[in-house]
Amino acid sequence: MCKNFWWGQVGDENRMALISWDSMSKPKQEGGLGFRNFSCFNRALLAKQGWRLIQYPESLAAQVLKAKYYPRSSFWEATGGHQPSFTWRSLLKGRELLKEGCYWRVGNGTRIKIWKDKWLPKSHNHLVHSTPRDLPAEANVSALIDHVNRAWRVQTIRQIFSHAQAEEIISIPLSNTDLQDELMWGCSKDGSFNVKSATSLARSIDVIKRLKHKASCSSESDGRWTKLWKASATPRAKNLCWRACRDALPTCVNLYKRGIEIDVICPICGNDYETLTHILLDCDFARDFWRKSPFRLCTSNRRLCEFGAWCHDMLSVLDEDQSGLLVTLIWGLWSLRNKWVFEKKRENVEISLGILLTVGVAMLLQWSHKKGSARGRGQGL
Ligand SMILES: [Zn+2]
Repeated sequence: MCKNFWWGQVGDENRMALISWDSMSKPKQEGGLGFRNFSCFNRALLAKQGWRLIQYPESLAAQVLKAKYYPRSSFWEATGGHQPSFTWRSLLKGRELLKEGCYWRVGNGTRIKIWKDKWLPKSHNHLVHSTPRDLPAEANVSALIDHVNRAWRVQTIRQIFSHAQAEEIISIPLSNTDLQDELMWGCSKDGSFNVKSATSLARSIDVIKRLKHKASCSSESDGRWTKLWKASATPRAKNLCWRACRDALPTCVNLYKRGIEIDVICPICGNDYETLTHILLDCDFARDFWRKSPFRLCTSNRRLCEFGAWCHDMLSVLDEDQSGLLVTLIWGLWSLRNKWVFEKKRENVEISLGILLTVGVAMLLQWSHKKGSARGRGQGL
């Protein structure tokens, strides 16, 4: 339905006005479950329109908008302007999401601002972490490139940036020809935009916002476990999650504490003690898992250290379906760890996630079916 509203022209004010941004963003109590998800989907569609403006600057819509709102800059840098139309404000909303999910692939560096844009391939958020020095704050990446020899100005870079980031910059390959910088969508493999991953990014931004909001005005709830037991997941997954929250799973460290002579270092990464928090949040494998999961979580800069506290915090801002997904993923991550430890099988994270989501849903359906038929026979569960 919303698609029909949307696939029209960018400049078509009436059509776009059918989706009121504010009404989509209403909290759950006011609008029901669908709205929040719908709002994420809507933002993803707006981001898609923004992506098209960037990819096809020659299109009629792009030219009309440029003439009106950003005659001397790009869509990427454009501001709200004077009395912006609903269409334009909506596109700027979409651009916010694009800015979260996009990063630049360096060509000649003329379109990328060193300290403002995302362009480092490996660093967290793709941003430069140091404050501007030696070059103006608005300087472009172009200033770091020796355009005659088509090479990085290594000495300047080492002077300005931390050792790690300098090495990261120098390792970015430069083209032999004068290529334009290219905007990449960081949530897909090939760097091209798609609505599905944008919706999931919007959702994870919402979750983080709610977590932050809750952190600023929270009080410890009495029904600590209620959210877990209400989650739409199988009892098996919920039980595993409950044991994980109470640190009651046989990790190497827990076995050692019980007097079993065992190596306590993580058998997957070898970088730390194998505690539950390490396995489920801090291990390289776990970080990759959560980053690629539908929640797109970055577990390395979380607020709460221990797994149990983290899990409760997450559950407190998720609805039943989302909680079910979280619980199923935790169960899956533990199973993947066991496969590694007992069968020496290291699974591919993306494939595992795909299987997990399918298997998780199938198990849940099977369980609900069983529960339904047991009730039907008057036995109850
Ligand atoms: Zn590890």
